[in-house]
Amino acid sequence: MNRNTTAKKRLSVPAYLVIVILAIAVLSVIFLIVNYRRGSDYSYTLEGALNLSTWTENSSPIVLDKGWQFYPNQILTPEQIQRSELSLLTENTVLYPHYENVEITRDGWVNLGTDATLHSPIGNVAPMESFGIGTYRIVLQFGKNIDYATLNFPDIAQAATIWTNGKAVRHYGIASSDRKEYEPSEVCADIQIQPSDSGQIEIVINCANYSSPYGGIVCRPCVASTKSIETIRYSARLYLSILIVLWLAFLVGGFYISQTFNGKGKFYFFMLLFLFEILYEIFDPAVTLLPGSWNYLIRVTILIFINYWSVLFYSSLYPKGSSKLFDKLRFFEISFFSFLSTCYLLTYWCFPKFLYLKSSVTANMVLVIITSSYCIFRVFYMLHLHEHGHYLYTLSVIITTFMNFSVFVRTQYYIAITLHAFILIFFAMIFGSYFIMDYVKTFEKLSFHNKNLENAVDEKTKYIAKVNQDLLRNHEKLLENEEARKKMLSNVSHDLRTPITAIRGYVELMLNAKEPLSREQEVQYLKNIHTRSTQMEQLISDLVQLTRLESENDKLDIMPLSVKEMVHDLYSLYSAECEGTDKQVLFEAPQDDDLLIDGDAKKLLRVFENIIVNAMKYTKEDGIIRIICHRYDDPAMLGGNAVEVIVKDNGVGIPENEVPYVFDRFYRAENSGINKTGSGLGLSIVKSIMDKHHGKIWAESEEGKGSEFHIVFRASEFNFDEEPEDEE
Ligand code: ADP
Repeated sequence: MNRNTTAKKRLSVPAYLVIVILAIAVLSVIFLIVNYRRGSDYSYTLEGALNLSTWTENSSPIVLDKGWQFYPNQILTPEQIQRSELSLLTENTVLYPHYENVEITRDGWVNLGTDATLHSPIGNVAPMESFGIGTYRIVLQFGKNIDYATLNFPDIAQAATIWTNGKAVRHYGIASSDRKEYEPSEVCADIQIQPSDSGQIEIVINCANYSSPYGGIVCRPCVASTKSIETIRYSARLYLSILIVLWLAFLVGGFYISQTFNGKGKFYFFMLLFLFEILYEIFDPAVTLLPGSWNYLIRVTILIFINYWSVLFYSSLYPKGSSKLFDKLRFFEISFFSFLSTCYLLTYWCFPKFLYLKSSVTANMVLVIITSSYCIFRVFYMLHLHEHGHYLYTLSVIITTFMNFSVFVRTQYYIAITLHAFILIFFAMIFGSYFIMDYVKTFEKLSFHNKNLENAVDEKTKYIAKVNQDLLRNHEKLLENEEARKKMLSNVSHDLRTPITAIRGYVELMLNAKEPLSREQEVQYLKNIHTRSTQMEQLISDLVQLTRLESENDKLDIMPLSVKEMVHDLYSLYSAECEGTDKQVLFEAPQDDDLLIDGDAKKLLRVFENIIVNAMKYTKEDGIIRIICHRYDDPAMLGGNAVEVIVKDNGVGIPENEVPYVFDRFYRAENSGINKTGSGLGLSIVKSIMDKHHGKIWAESEEGKGSEFHIVFRASEFNFDEEPEDEE
């Protein structure tokens, strides 16, 4: 890993810290807003009832957080209370001591609010006993047109009997016969009320709380239309259903795409954690009311599991076997949290009554704070160590912290569940997007590598095909060369044998002559021997020159040359030779242009001479040979700046199908005539020299009419006419 990446990785840690803290802060604020139910400024009727006459079924729910009467340490029937009320009116005394204007707070009956006033016939009432009982009462005055409404009590601690208009409509929990003990129960009540003809409804709630001063109504109740409570309940269930469907979709999607993840174990681990979170919501008493204390027990169990599972989840993120410190830390944290969670679970499952102690909430809080702080610490440590998986870690922290801390806030109210579920859906979407992005990224990477691989294979295939082709070509060339070698050997031996045989023939003639040969005969024989040996010498020198030209060592001696001058010298030579015969050699060249090229003078002389000699050789007695030198300005030819020499004759010509072969070694056209001396090597030497000069040579011919040989060179850049610059 290079330094830059390390620096980048380290820099991102504080950024993630800020994100997580902000997210937790935002969520806490949302919790507070949702769970804070504002009460209205109520007015009271003359009879002391809470005036709800303006409330209609379309109004929003009204929170009943004020105006309650509370009878501490007493379980009273509505009848008893009414009697007490009556005696207050008639005799100005109360039968049962109670507080008026009591506020419903989270602390239950230990905190009756600042406005509570005591009405007591005996002075001060006894303080709340550690085992508490008490009676709440409120009278609501609805408008005449209200037939039904729903009373929602999100949380009454443990056991309760609810009376409406003198009738006991609901019992929660079971009181012992001496009324000293109650079977604990989770009370989340929705009670349909039907106001009397006068629109009044009296609600009396007897509460009992097991061995704790923290009891009574602990979450503010509200009055809502039956319809709106139903709507909220269904939307809460709908949200939970969406959550479950999403979870299943992620599970199925994850199952298919997790093959590409680095750690698919982590994915399933997290899915299980998420499932616990959903179950936590499903076991909210407002959604599922299990009998007795089961709801609360299951919920707290899930919470402990979430805690424990988050520790296991973060443990799974440690790079395994990379360090002894990690192994020790993992062992420590798993043992510690296993022990802690087991203690909690054993306590609650063996002694469910502990659940209802106020201290149990504190104990749960301690567990959550320890676990969450540890997990946050762990995640930052992991972020510090690894550049990958930031999103996964951060999201996991937010979700688990969010769920773990929800224990602080009572959520048994449908709106809260809806919001909780909504936030979870939101997290699930982000989480899902993370995995999809991860998948897409992996997929893109794969396709990129795939493409690269395909390209590489393509390139290699092309390369191999080319190598193959080259090999084939080389093979063909080798075969051709072998063929050429054989042909050349046979040609050489044939071309050498012919003059040798002739020479030997003449020598034998001379040696074996029975009579002395005449002087003319002798001269004739010796001339023939001379011609044949010259022919042999020519052949051997041609062979030597060709071999030399083909070897790499034969370097050209390049210098600026005037083609016009060279060709003109040859013209002078050969036209002089033709003097006295019918043959003519003609020369054409531009007056004012030397036709400069860069080349090897010796070798080029061979080229021009060979072509001119051929023209002379393959024409009849009265042949005309024209030598034309000129500039060749066609851009298609050697870039447009060229010099051409054309040697034209009106001789025997070359058969059309043989023209392409005249530059091959030992090739002699059919019509070249057996009497004409020649090895068939001249033009192949010429071609080699031209190739070495990067020039062009080709023949055009018509049998019986004559031939044209074209020789083209790149013109020299050097200009003799230019004045050399003065050098100081
Ligand atoms: P050679 O020694 O036979 O002349 P070259 O290599 O010089 O060998 O020429 C190859 C063949 O090309 C000749 O044998 C001849 O058939 C043909 N050839 C070359 N120049 C001419 C020409 N000016 N007119 C007709 N045929 C020619």
